[in-house]
Amino acid sequence: MAEDLLIVKNLKKYYPITGGVFGKEIGVVKAVDDVSFTVKRGETLGLVGESGCGKSTTGRSLLRLIEPTAGEVTFDGVNITALTADEMRRMRRHMQIVFQDPFASLNPRHNIEKILEEPLVVHGIGTPAERKKRVREMLEVVGLSSYHAQRYPHQFSGGQRQRIGIARALMLNPKLIVADEPVSALDVSIQSQVLNLMQDLQRELGLTYLFIAHDLSVVRHISDRVGVMYLGRLVELADSETLYAHPLHPYTRALLSAVPSPDPDAARERIILQGDVPSPANPPGGCTFHTRCPHVTEECRSVRPAFQDVGGGHFIACHLYKA
Ligand code: ADP
Ligand code: MG
Repeated sequence: MAEDLLIVKNLKKYYPITGGVFGKEIGVVKAVDDVSFTVKRGETLGLVGESGCGKSTTGRSLLRLIEPTAGEVTFDGVNITALTADEMRRMRRHMQIVFQDPFASLNPRHNIEKILEEPLVVHGIGTPAERKKRVREMLEVVGLSSYHAQRYPHQFSGGQRQRIGIARALMLNPKLIVADEPVSALDVSIQSQVLNLMQDLQRELGLTYLFIAHDLSVVRHISDRVGVMYLGRLVELADSETLYAHPLHPYTRALLSAVPSPDPDAARERIILQGDVPSPANPPGGCTFHTRCPHVTEECRSVRPAFQDVGGGHFIACHLYKA
């Protein structure tokens, strides 16, 4: 059994921009532009970066919820980019997604039993009695009660709804869960409860997570490794301890300098980035970060830095560091 459950190679997702009366293609949004990473079995890989940098598009296109423009995704030894739609549907029971806004993703007219049962019905699993039993068990697993099965989404708090979102993702016993900002809409006190639940479930069920967040502090404790995205590309990836203690990429350093440190003696210099994130429809040449980088050189303006391992699995795309 291979160590890597998920291998993402050169993933791209471009959206055409159309214009004029004939709807001609006049450009392209490079939402995800050549992203490669792996996730080991049982591991949590955190994926962070500012809003609009391509995190959700990465998560959805690797699950083929949206079709990638290019690239190869291997899941559990199978090249899933080569699967037919039908084969992909069957494969998807092993790879589930949890969304940021559980309310938007739960049908308000269905009670919780119907919502949780649905994946089993779609995949033709179990008798009606077995499905109802599984729904009740799963509610307990995520810290709710079996009597909640007859209630409707609006009768739950935000934190409870996210527990329902997690329960629905777990109904088919998946191996991989892509969690797309699962706690971003929740109060800070509720966030840690949901994060703790996800960690407990991972241990008990042997789950593998791709955990997406825009905030570095959220993924810190749950992630074994963390990847940082900027404008559709990964700029740095390392194990969490290394990334937080010794960030290398100027963008990661800037992001981290904005995170309040729990240790006042470790006060870092606050790095303020100049300007806004450029448009992915018209990304800068060379290193896409060069327009905002305090260390920019001539090379950065013209040559795109490769994403490479500078030692011990610390990946970085920056001309300041050569492998
Ligand atoms: P994130 O999750 O990091 O906030 P997204 O993956 O949602 O970022 O979006 C990345 C970029 O792709 C953004 O510039 C966004 O506007 C663009 N984008 C996302 N979905 C579409 C779409 N369906 N059509 C056109 N552009 C899109
Ligand atoms: Mg997103």
